[in-house]
Amino acid sequence: MTRDDAIHRAQECFDSGDFQRTLARRIAIPTESQNPARAPVLREYLEAEIRPAFEAMGFTCQILEHPKALAPFLLAERIEGPDLPTVLGYGHGDVIRGLDNEWKPGLSPWTLTEAEGRWYGRGIADNKGQHTVNMEAMRTVLATRGKLGFNAKYLIEMGEETGSSGLRELCTEHKDLLRAHLLIASDGPRLAPERPTVFLGSRGSLNFDLSIEARAGGHHSGNWGGLISNPGIQLAHAIASLVSPTGEILLPEWKPKELPASVRRALADCEVDGGEDGPEIEPWWGQPGLSPAERVFGWCSFEVLAYKTGNPDTPVNAIPPRAWARCQLRFVVGIEPGDILPALRRHLDAHGFSMVKIATTRENIFSATRIDPEEPWVQWAVASIAATSGKKPAVLPNLGGSLPNDIFTDVLGLRTVWVPHSYPGCSQHAPNEHLPPHLLREGLAMMAGLYWDLGAGATPHAQFRLNQCVTATPVR
Ligand SMILES: [Zn+2]
Repeated sequence: MTRDDAIHRAQECFDSGDFQRTLARRIAIPTESQNPARAPVLREYLEAEIRPAFEAMGFTCQILEHPKALAPFLLAERIEGPDLPTVLGYGHGDVIRGLDNEWKPGLSPWTLTEAEGRWYGRGIADNKGQHTVNMEAMRTVLATRGKLGFNAKYLIEMGEETGSSGLRELCTEHKDLLRAHLLIASDGPRLAPERPTVFLGSRGSLNFDLSIEARAGGHHSGNWGGLISNPGIQLAHAIASLVSPTGEILLPEWKPKELPASVRRALADCEVDGGEDGPEIEPWWGQPGLSPAERVFGWCSFEVLAYKTGNPDTPVNAIPPRAWARCQLRFVVGIEPGDILPALRRHLDAHGFSMVKIATTRENIFSATRIDPEEPWVQWAVASIAATSGKKPAVLPNLGGSLPNDIFTDVLGLRTVWVPHSYPGCSQHAPNEHLPPHLLREGLAMMAGLYWDLGAGATPHAQFRLNQCVTATPVR
């Protein structure tokens, strides 16, 4: 039995309709984690769907809970030998609210439906379709080889859409249980629909508010204009001192010292393509001298998300007493997260804006993570995916968006290789979530090849001790 046999078996699993039936059953379970009434359904997904599927593959399963978590986790484990590579998988079985009434006629979030050459259903992209691909690919390797040839652990959470509460604490407490050489997981979109993609981390993100509270109330602009300061003007100037008129960040502490050569090489091969519905890229915006891929994946970006002074809905002839802005910095590895706001304070004070208050928001702070694209495990995974798909995968050192990937890199000390099976136009989190079925079929084949290769002996795992990897490998 060969690698090709495993891949053919995976394709047969798709072509026979087996994969579609399994996925349809999972989509039919309305695992809306934002809806408190669905709490029993979250557990049912693990008990009725995920546990039996893993147990049929000879995994042992346990439900893990944490007081800080709103929903349970399932850990499945199949250990074949102490000297074999160990891979941790991750996925989430919960979904965003169904928004049942907003789907196109004839579609329901809870019924996998084929229309216009697409498969529709809530969770098909985020994330049921993706972990079902990986689980079925593992099953075909097991059926072909009679064993996996590696040790597998798989963690499925049911609270990702409510912020993964308790995931960090759970991983901290169960570090030994989750010990592995690397994480192979699937979520999020490919760079472009036809381009197999791996991403290795995510940008960090920090939201904060800037405000000027000048005085208790507004004052007539005819009587007081020119005599008292205008906080709306002052805050605009303060923001203008942070970022140039063409979007270039001006604080040195908010910019990486450099774009590492390996990151630059990986991104040279990546073209940002928002698809038909995406906006046109504006080449004059952002950090000068960088390609679009370097700007969104290799650099930091600063945004003003909202700005308010006076009464925007009913303007009056008064000098407003206050101004407020919600701002955001997305940042890459190399930025010191703990110094983002202190650096801002120093900068504002030095530029005469000590009246501007800085406040953190209630939103999550995400850390930035990134693995060297030329790291041996990454090269191994990319070669495997290329061999199966016949295409050159895009390698993103990190996503432009933010994920709690530092739980895997920093808490568990893992390399993280994400192999997304979705695409940017999938409408996740909106009505009409869908995937083109050929992406799932290709994903199934790629993952069967990847898991086959993981058990075939020629992996880089012998070079590293368990969980001893990441300290040396992130590109800082
Ligand atoms: Zn989601």
